[in-house]
Amino acid sequence: MRYVSTRGDATPRRFCEILLEGLAPDGGLYLPERYPRVDAGTLTRWRGLPYAELAFQILSLYIDDIPAADLRALCQRTYTRERFGTDAIVPLRPLEPGLWIEALSNGPTLAFKDMAMQLLGGLFEYELARRGERLNILGATSGDTGSAAEYAMRGKAGVQVFMLSPHGRMSPFQQAQMYSLPDANIHNIAIEGVFDDCQDIVKAVSNDLVFKRAHRIGSVNSINWARLLAQVVYYFAGWFQATTASDERVSFAVPSGNFGNVCAGHVARMMGLPIGRLLVATNENDVLDEFFRTGCYRVRAAAETHETSSPSMDISKASNFERFVFDLLGRDAARVRKLFGTHLARDGGFALDAAAHKRCASFGFVSGRSTHADRLATIRDTWQRFGAMIDPHTADGLKVARERRVAGEPVVVLETALPVKFSSTLVEALGQEPPRPEALVGIEDLPRRCDVLPADVSAVKALIAAHDTR
Ligand SMILES: *Cc1c(COP(=O)(O)O)cnc(C)c1O
Repeated sequence: MRYVSTRGDATPRRFCEILLEGLAPDGGLYLPERYPRVDAGTLTRWRGLPYAELAFQILSLYIDDIPAADLRALCQRTYTRERFGTDAIVPLRPLEPGLWIEALSNGPTLAFKDMAMQLLGGLFEYELARRGERLNILGATSGDTGSAAEYAMRGKAGVQVFMLSPHGRMSPFQQAQMYSLPDANIHNIAIEGVFDDCQDIVKAVSNDLVFKRAHRIGSVNSINWARLLAQVVYYFAGWFQATTASDERVSFAVPSGNFGNVCAGHVARMMGLPIGRLLVATNENDVLDEFFRTGCYRVRAAAETHETSSPSMDISKASNFERFVFDLLGRDAARVRKLFGTHLARDGGFALDAAAHKRCASFGFVSGRSTHADRLATIRDTWQRFGAMIDPHTADGLKVARERRVAGEPVVVLETALPVKFSSTLVEALGQEPPRPEALVGIEDLPRRCDVLPADVSAVKALIAAHDTR
């Protein structure tokens, strides 16, 4: 399997060549040159496989430069009961006939990003050892991504993580989750500023190509193909649990921000998994809902980006969206380059022609949005009728699933975080604190490791350089 860029760079690259990279050299995103097709016979054979083995089977279709035995061992070390809480790894729980919640948030940081990031940690360590190289991962976080990256990379040979976060602005629980990690290769840097300051520093450091090369700066952001690929697996696992035969269709409702999660659903559907529709759920930051309704993709300015009670979906643009548009336009890289390289940069967006917009439906896409009041109502209703607590992001997904679902359509709602991560909203909705997994009781009292720095690029560079010694 070879990988190509959505903007036309067709230099054939193998999986491990793009594993440690971000964007393609032409600014596009990597995609496989084709989607391997999975037929009904294969689905029948895969039904009942343990999650780790299913992951190995799917990953093998896309990865041919890691020996099979090594890849299988990596999957088996990653998707364990110890890390994800159950043998099913992503158990489905029924809400009502034809409507389920797929639990993706029982990994170490209690959000679905662990599903991909835990595998990425193993893959990075494996590939760096094979090359005899090291990598310094630099990132900015306001919550879920940073902690998932740190828990994935902790103790991994050849990798250090430098994670910037806005000083004093994350929830006490999120701060405790990150800052209490004792591992020497994890560096928390609290920046005296807001999240945008953190992101600007990451950009400035990454744009200094001399520094970047000298200190082997890398990232684990959501455009990484390996992350997306790891997420494809739980669409298969969810479909198997919701069906008994290979011709049954199931739709998925997906709380969406950067379009990474639902893009994995798109890939699974392109592979032939019988997915009916992909219901894209946004919050008040409705870039994606607007696109699917109107065919216009309009990136928001910082001032137009709302702070909501489903904060991990507070995005101004959807960084994985270009992958879907590439497929929607019949993989016409010249057109993608014009839309994303020219129009987006110049006009802040673009409008598709009516025919292309109409084709979104044939790829299964439908969308909806929700508000803070909707989230509270959905959390309350789900608690009162089913005794189930859900987090605000999952509530966005469930609200849109209910609204868009047609009679008899089976729908799996992806649970993207546990309620305990967003307890203030749960308290607002239900008047009570959500339960906390035993292992995380009292983490706020653990000793913390964190450097506080001014919002200054050279201070961050100096700190990285001081730790990047061999
Ligand atoms: C990251 C995140 C999302 C959004 O996922 P995308 O892949 O960016 O669409 C939704 N919910 C939670 C809890 C998240 O952490």
